[in-house]
Amino acid sequence: MAEKHFKYVIVGGGVAAGYAAREFARLGVNPGELAIISKEAVAPYERPALSKAYLFPQGSARLPGFHVCVGSGGERLLPEWYTEKGIELILSTEIVKADLASKALVSSSGEIFKYDTLIIATGSTVIKLSDFGVKGADAKGIFYLREIDDADQLVEAIQAKKGGKAVIVGGGYIGLELGATLQINDLDVTMVYPEPWCMPRLFTSGIAAFYEGYYANKGIKIVKGTVAVGFDSDSNGEVTAVNLKDGRTLEADVVVVGVGGRPLTTLFKGQVDEEKGGIKTDAFFKTSVPDVYAVGDVATFPLKLYSELRRVEHVDHARKSAEQAVKWARWRVRLSPYFYSRAFNLSWQFYGDNVGETVLFGDTDPASAKPKFGSYWIKDGRVVGAFLEAGTPEENQAIARVARLQPPSTASISSPPMASPLPARSDRLRPPTIKQRPRHFLVRSCSLMNLLC
Ligand SMILES: Cc1cc2nc3c(=O)[nH]c(=O)nc-3n(C[C@H](O)[C@H](O)[C@H](O)COP(=O)(O)OP(=O)(O)OC[C@H]3O[C@@H](n4cnc5c(N)ncnc54)[C@H](O)[C@@H]3O)c2cc1C
Repeated sequence: MAEKHFKYVIVGGGVAAGYAAREFARLGVNPGELAIISKEAVAPYERPALSKAYLFPQGSARLPGFHVCVGSGGERLLPEWYTEKGIELILSTEIVKADLASKALVSSSGEIFKYDTLIIATGSTVIKLSDFGVKGADAKGIFYLREIDDADQLVEAIQAKKGGKAVIVGGGYIGLELGATLQINDLDVTMVYPEPWCMPRLFTSGIAAFYEGYYANKGIKIVKGTVAVGFDSDSNGEVTAVNLKDGRTLEADVVVVGVGGRPLTTLFKGQVDEEKGGIKTDAFFKTSVPDVYAVGDVATFPLKLYSELRRVEHVDHARKSAEQAVKWARWRVRLSPYFYSRAFNLSWQFYGDNVGETVLFGDTDPASAKPKFGSYWIKDGRVVGAFLEAGTPEENQAIARVARLQPPSTASISSPPMASPLPARSDRLRPPTIKQRPRHFLVRSCSLMNLLC
């Protein structure tokens, strides 16, 4: 069996791997010292593009346009960049065995890769309905979206089924983004999810009401409070319908399932400490095994800001954890969770933690020409999370700062509301016209709002 040795190996070739490679290059790495081993056939790219511009009918994003690190405004690392830096990109190679004691990885074709230091960046895999024995869930025309190959298959189906019916199973951000892109592609879209409103892990009912209304105005049908329990298919094995638990049947030419992900940690089970479904690390993303780091979706790390261990499945965390691990810095982690999404002409950003009481403000009318609104989360008297739809870069920086600094809300909370929750100095966050008064609370918070001005 062929055997290769590298000083540093990154297993996984996604977002975290790409940003780690850039950090290695920045700090200086000798040719031949670093290898990235990836199951995918392409160099690291900005994965979020797959559910957005990649699926657009016109002007769609294609590689090499969205290789890392363009997503954060950085240099685009083309495959040649790795060659120039002497970084070995070992693509289309799946690692099927890891022996952390002997510092060896084995690929599906039997190649052995030895390392001195390992960075685990295997990300997540999708949860499939067939994992739960849902009847007919392996029919043709039922798609999941994680990697570029999945996106290519979906693009093919979208083009083949133009004008047909699409059912999106799942009401998370993937479901919402796919609902939008499929509608833009002239499919008749129905979304199905069991929760009372979309994206319940982050959105309040007030935030969700805006998005559900906006989607309804675009002609997207939303079926809530039930789940897909089976699929019908024709004699070619192509999906024709989705059967719901409440007895209804939805016709379908294409089905896309977005019901969550699972971190890919199985290679390392029993060899490394785990917590909250991920690989437990310290603040520098070091695992319980010497010389082994875990970054991105697989890492459960101490988020000092909230004094607890967290696992985060967001692109910003993948980038920052990778850079932090490579630096193996001596300072403490001060990462604040950041999450964003875009669909239709909408674009929101969220910073911090979605716990505690919420304050919704601004124009949440889905029919508005330019809706603009936000929400704060207040816990133990401090503002711990901030959400903004349609923010300018400056406003988004301001809410990020709020989430990081966690100013006291000095909130006087009363109901019903008597005024806009935004005091005079926060003009930049004030929507142009407030047609609808906030349904939640009145908050007067000079210290918070001073930060926004
Ligand atoms: C469609 C989609 C849209 C998204 N949109 C957003 C968004 O709008 N905002 C946001 O914040 N986040 C978004 N995310 C989440 C974000 O992309 C992830 O959190 C991020 O990619 C995690 O980076 P990672 O490097 O840990 O994992 P990944 O980027 O998933 O990379 C993991 C890599 O490891 C490879 N791999 C896995 N196992 C092996 C193995 N055994 N051998 C070799 N290679 C292996 C995989 O093939 C993959 O290349 C989105 C995710 C998806 C799938």
